[in-house]
Amino acid sequence: MSYWSWRRGNWNPGIEFPPPAVKGGELVHLIADGESPANALSLECIEELETLLGVIAKETGVRALVVSSAKSGHFIAGANIDEIGGITDPAQATQLATKAQHAFGMLGELPFPSFALIHGTCLGGGLELALGCTYRVAVDAPSTKIGLPEVNLGIIPGFGGSQRLPRLIGIPKALPLILAGSRLPAKVALRRGVVDAVVPPEGAMAVGLRAIEKIVKDGGRGVLAQRKKLRGGWRMKLIGGTPFGRALIARGARKQVLAKTGGHYPAPLAAIDLVLPSTTRSLEQGLIEEARVVGELAVSPVCKNLISIFQASERARKVAGPQTGAEGRWPEGAFLGVLGAGVMGAGVASAALDRGLAVRLRDLADAPLTRGLTQIAGGVSKQVKSRRRSKVEGEELLSRLTHTTTLEGFGRCDAVLEAIVERMDIKQRALTEIEPFLREDCLFLTNTSALSVSELQKVATHPERVVGLHFFNPVQKMPLVEVIAGTQSADWAISRTIGLAQALGKYPVVVKDSPGFLVNRLLMPYLDAAVRLLESGVPGPRIDATARAFGLPMGPMRLIDEVGVDIGVEVSESLHSAFGDRAAPSSLLEKLAEKGWLGRKTKTGFYLHDGNGSRWNDGIAELLSSGGSRSASEEEIVAELIDPMVDEAARCLEEEIISDAEAVDLAMVMGTGFPPFRGGLLRHADSVGLESIVRRIEARKGPRQPASLLLSLAKDGKTFHHAGKSKAGAVHA
Ligand code: NAD
Repeated sequence: MSYWSWRRGNWNPGIEFPPPAVKGGELVHLIADGESPANALSLECIEELETLLGVIAKETGVRALVVSSAKSGHFIAGANIDEIGGITDPAQATQLATKAQHAFGMLGELPFPSFALIHGTCLGGGLELALGCTYRVAVDAPSTKIGLPEVNLGIIPGFGGSQRLPRLIGIPKALPLILAGSRLPAKVALRRGVVDAVVPPEGAMAVGLRAIEKIVKDGGRGVLAQRKKLRGGWRMKLIGGTPFGRALIARGARKQVLAKTGGHYPAPLAAIDLVLPSTTRSLEQGLIEEARVVGELAVSPVCKNLISIFQASERARKVAGPQTGAEGRWPEGAFLGVLGAGVMGAGVASAALDRGLAVRLRDLADAPLTRGLTQIAGGVSKQVKSRRRSKVEGEELLSRLTHTTTLEGFGRCDAVLEAIVERMDIKQRALTEIEPFLREDCLFLTNTSALSVSELQKVATHPERVVGLHFFNPVQKMPLVEVIAGTQSADWAISRTIGLAQALGKYPVVVKDSPGFLVNRLLMPYLDAAVRLLESGVPGPRIDATARAFGLPMGPMRLIDEVGVDIGVEVSESLHSAFGDRAAPSSLLEKLAEKGWLGRKTKTGFYLHDGNGSRWNDGIAELLSSGGSRSASEEEIVAELIDPMVDEAARCLEEEIISDAEAVDLAMVMGTGFPPFRGGLLRHADSVGLESIVRRIEARKGPRQPASLLLSLAKDGKTFHHAGKSKAGAVHA
């Protein structure tokens, strides 16, 4: 099947799509219609484009070429990531980039002007194609997102983008867009000069063509003047146009990148080195260098790891539950009830409102309800202030929120999520109280961190609709949710819960109903290992600094302070009773809890949190039973923190708590911030070598000895990611 189609047409504003062929028409319409719903660019389709453009260039009587897409919601979403993920030879990536650069360059060298008519996602290779055109016109629709997000995948814009964008809008504007991988709405793209005109979404094709006709009629003079104005001004000239200004930009950008990435991500640094000379060397030279750099980056482990996480997240975003078809589908424009207006309840309500759902929020009394409502309204007003949302949009969002201290008004809900105190008796009571008010097909979801969903189901009249949906704190920022099926949860209920999670923009992973589910079960041995390192004499701030240098967003001691020492004690006790000696917690946390040092919420924990930031709490030394004085290397600290997590993950796979290694990796990256450039916990373990992990765990001679899956993979020289899946979804060696 061919990717592109083209035909001659005219300016007819009442145009149908695809445009009809018109004899002697003045336009050539080139339409992208690839196999994937989002139009991804592969080598094959780039070669096809090259051939077609050779033919189109010979057409006579043409006044303009218009590139558009047949897909709804997408212009071209980018290069084919699977293809890039599969490249193992730098020369192959360089060749792909060179082909694309050449094909896109042909768009600007036709004997007539070319236009990209952008309606929907126009990212990565999609924007690079558009940058090859003489002009860009974007449709101001919510689906239109324009940008070069390649650095997020460990590469750089390699199809001409790193050279053409700075030439178009200037280095000071182009570099931040490339480094942040920003996705701009149409109007912002116009303000930055990335596109030349914006048209409203109503009758987009017809109005788009009218805008194009206008540009053609005045020979592009208006657009050129507009571009000059946007690039003008003494600041832009001084910063982007002088060696001193460019050196200043480079220094600032490098500093920012290193602060953000700890030097673990080579792509943004490579992008700086490529963009900076882009306006002072020939385009040809710049493109050769760009293709060479993309070749190197595309085969780097960082790129492969980032792509594997991206692919796993895409699968999670689209995964269907066990019941396909209408019954298992989360309905559009749905209504969500939330019980509990605390930290999590208010967070989930905000996320749901953000995504267009109607929400009914309940708490027991006015005071906690008001606190929750204030938190939600505060979030919206921040969005309005930062212009992420207009005032009218903010008002519309809040108009979808109703609240109550009673049980009324939940009959319209498609799902009710409880986010109330973590006690089984209280959760069971809340369920039995509200059930008579719910429709039969209304889900009852629990946000419990550790309680059994199957246990909760026992008191339900309709246990089949009770499912666990475990969000992470802060809900707005954390992209993971664990979906937990109880023994009686129906397939339709699990599927709809997955659909709800996706509707909220989250990545769902399905986990078995078992203590700690997946993420908390893996985090506890890590936190415990940190406490034991501290007890052996390694300074707490050093443990935290080492974890951060490894790439974790915060160190384990600080994480305990953020979560709350008391919560840590509760969770570790429940995991201890479920898993025995290997999960036996150190007594240090209890000692902190007894002193009321609960972490940030009491201003004292492992750190002292006062108005001036946080510093290590020297009082901790008095609580340590032995005055250990161990000096461990950074490598030892990392291994002692990470090995127990790997072992516990192997047990989760054995017990079929989660389907496969890829899901573990996604969950740890999205749920705990495990460094994405390492590809997740088990990809990291695979790269370290399972045999060395086994040896280290055995040498520690502690109550934790290697899981049998870990042992057998190590013995056979296999890895978690090449172990394969069993029928039930579990990994087998
Ligand atoms: P919270 O104490 O901040 O809020 C709980 C709220 O529920 C309170 O306002 C309370 O008044 C209200 N409430 C109690 N009984 C109620 C009832 N019958 N109906 C309506 N409201 C009721 O608690 P939280 O931190 O938001 O945690 C809520 C749940 O989410 C717990 O199960 C917790 O384990 C889980 N969770 C918490 C986190 C976290 O980091 N805080 C993360 C994941 C999951």
